[in-house]
Amino acid sequence: MTRIVGVVSGKGGVGKTTLVSNLGVLLAQEGLDVAVVDANLTGANLGLHFGLISYPTSLHDVIKEKASINEAIYKHKSGVDIIPASLSFEEVLETEPKNLRERLEGLGKDIILIDAATGLDRETLKAIEMCDDLLIVTHPELPTISDSLRTKSVAKRYEKNILGVVLNRVTRGDELKKENLSAFFDLPIIGVIPEDHKVRKSIEKKNPIVLEYPNHKISHELRKIKDYILGREPLHYKESLIDKIKAFFRL
Ligand code: ADP
Ligand code: MG
Repeated sequence: MTRIVGVVSGKGGVGKTTLVSNLGVLLAQEGLDVAVVDANLTGANLGLHFGLISYPTSLHDVIKEKASINEAIYKHKSGVDIIPASLSFEEVLETEPKNLRERLEGLGKDIILIDAATGLDRETLKAIEMCDDLLIVTHPELPTISDSLRTKSVAKRYEKNILGVVLNRVTRGDELKKENLSAFFDLPIIGVIPEDHKVRKSIEKKNPIVLEYPNHKISHELRKIKDYILGREPLHYKESLIDKIKAFFRL
């Protein structure tokens, strides 16, 4: 049976797509049959994180029933199957995604990660609806947290299993700490990812950070999140001395 895990957030720009692309690679490296789906239909960009810039068929064509889901799959060198949405502005859909879950299940994957749209409009709700589990990504600042809490309430209303919260783009100055936030959300904080220019660099290189900089502290943290998703005891991924020194000097 396919497990569908959605990555959601109350605000945009918090790191959903970055998380989906990297976790997709890490899960494929585990030997799992993985697909990542760009369900951000009005703000698609998941393919770009993998260097997939132009493609003849997208999730939009699948939803419009112009193509089968198999025709919208693009294999990445890491083994992940990418189902991108259209990058074109004219492609804004009037059609509702119908039976998308069933169609995704039909692919026979072990796990599918959904890059959801931001906020709580219909597009996001449709994505939440088709997931088994959800992962909330947030920046640890109050306005973003309050939007994330709304996302959590909706997810609960849909009776979805919320795996936990990932704090991304964390800086030393952030006042809201992991322990307080866990109590605030009443959910485990399953990852704390610092703000680091290497994330942008890897996106520019069109290569997820876990491939571009596999020994970077962010890649270690992403592996912990992957383990959590797989229900494993968190492994201790040792940071190298160089990583520690770099982190200290914020290089
Ligand atoms: P979302 O999908 O939630 O809109 P993205 O994954 O596209 O967010 O991230 C938005 C931007 O933030 C990206 O362009 C990326 O460069 C930057 N970003 C994400 N995570 C980090 C991080 N940990 N450190 C620095 N920049 C980051
Ligand atoms: Mg995104």
